[in-house]
Amino acid sequence: MKFTPEHDALRKTVRDFVEKEINPYCDEWEAAGEFPIKDLFKKLGNLGLLGIQKPEAYGGMGLDYSYNLVAAEELGLALCGGVPLAIGVQTDMCTPALARFGSDELKREFLAPAIAGDRVGCIGVSEVDAGSDVAGIRTNARKDGDDYIINGSKMWITNSPKADFICLLANTSDDKPHRNKSLILVPTDTPGVSFSPHLNKLGMRSSETAQIFLDDVRVPQRNRIGAEGTGFMMQMMQFQEERMWGAANVIKALEACIDRTITYCRERRTFGQALIDNQYIHFRLAELQTEVEALRALTYQACEQHIAGQDATRLASMAKLKAGRLGREVTDACLQFWGGNGYMWDNPVSRAFRDVRLVSIGGGADEIMLGIICKLMGILPSKRRD
Ligand SMILES: Cc1cc2nc3c(=O)[nH]c(=O)nc-3n(C[C@H](O)[C@H](O)[C@H](O)COP(=O)(O)OP(=O)(O)OC[C@H]3O[C@@H](n4cnc5c(N)ncnc54)[C@H](O)[C@@H]3O)c2cc1C
Repeated sequence: MKFTPEHDALRKTVRDFVEKEINPYCDEWEAAGEFPIKDLFKKLGNLGLLGIQKPEAYGGMGLDYSYNLVAAEELGLALCGGVPLAIGVQTDMCTPALARFGSDELKREFLAPAIAGDRVGCIGVSEVDAGSDVAGIRTNARKDGDDYIINGSKMWITNSPKADFICLLANTSDDKPHRNKSLILVPTDTPGVSFSPHLNKLGMRSSETAQIFLDDVRVPQRNRIGAEGTGFMMQMMQFQEERMWGAANVIKALEACIDRTITYCRERRTFGQALIDNQYIHFRLAELQTEVEALRALTYQACEQHIAGQDATRLASMAKLKAGRLGREVTDACLQFWGGNGYMWDNPVSRAFRDVRLVSIGGGADEIMLGIICKLMGILPSKRRD
């Protein structure tokens, strides 16, 4: 990955934004269980940061994915994972399929305001009975004249309580599970859309998560992204960007965790010496930093493949898997070295420990990544779906 002065300038813009607009308020937002998403997104939109890789015709910067990667990395310096997650949902989870496959009309109606920070989006894939098994979702969209009538529900949907639209995966026919799905844009003010109260989460406290209910929700068929029946394929492609974004976002968050732990272990003394002077501790921290560099290299390689137009599924899945596993390892080890202070709720390492736990679950759990990697290695026993 070769970074240019333009990458460095973008890095600085994102870092300044994190320092000025996010970090001073993280404690308050974490305690409140929400943050002013509309205000913050408008500020991000004004700086162009919600459309780095999106087409210029819709207000984006038209840059390649390496710039997105840089932004995702810098957002990892936020003092909470919830706000970067909300931003990642807008830029890399609920809009990539729209940007790639949506009609001009849809892009003007949904993408341009999402890039400008005027509309908040969310991605509605998971359901109570179908998270890992995306093909098993039950929400269905039945045709009625020029419209769809949608019934079902979606579970654990980030940003949904404040979202203006859902990029919704629904079954639009009785065909086979991989061929019967479509991605449909559903404005949240459509009659029949409702939300559960906020879900009470272990981490990512400042991001808002809820269940969405869809009860005879009527939307025009022109709100479908791309051809009918291609939603599963589009969502799998959309997952690649989500997974690379997730891996990139973890890198600096873990480095910050290690750095904070080094500072603490220099100051904290036991048995007449600084904690850091115990060989076990400084060796362990060096080992973890080495692992973070390996994650960075893997993530950059996935990104390079993606930019070159090659299929990055294998490397993106590996990067996501490594990010989740390493995130748990680094935050757990660091928390241990903070002792009782690390166990306190408001400790930054304790927050990182809780926040990063999501990476092994959301957007495809570790085991799903392993399944994809095995499949691409040709070692996954074939399965029959009844
Ligand atoms: C905070 C948060 C935010 C989220 N945001 C969104 C969002 O915005 N939009 C959205 O659509 N979804 C969202 N999700 C849902 C998330 O993507 C799912 O939780 C995830 O895909 C796992 O699905 P599940 O929880 O149903 O777990 P299940 O599918 O029930 O699996 C449970 C566990 O079983 C294991 N497992 C599953 N399948 C296999 C297998 N084949 N082999 C071996 N082990 C297996 C895994 O360890 C997995 O964690 C969010 C979840 C959380 C917690």
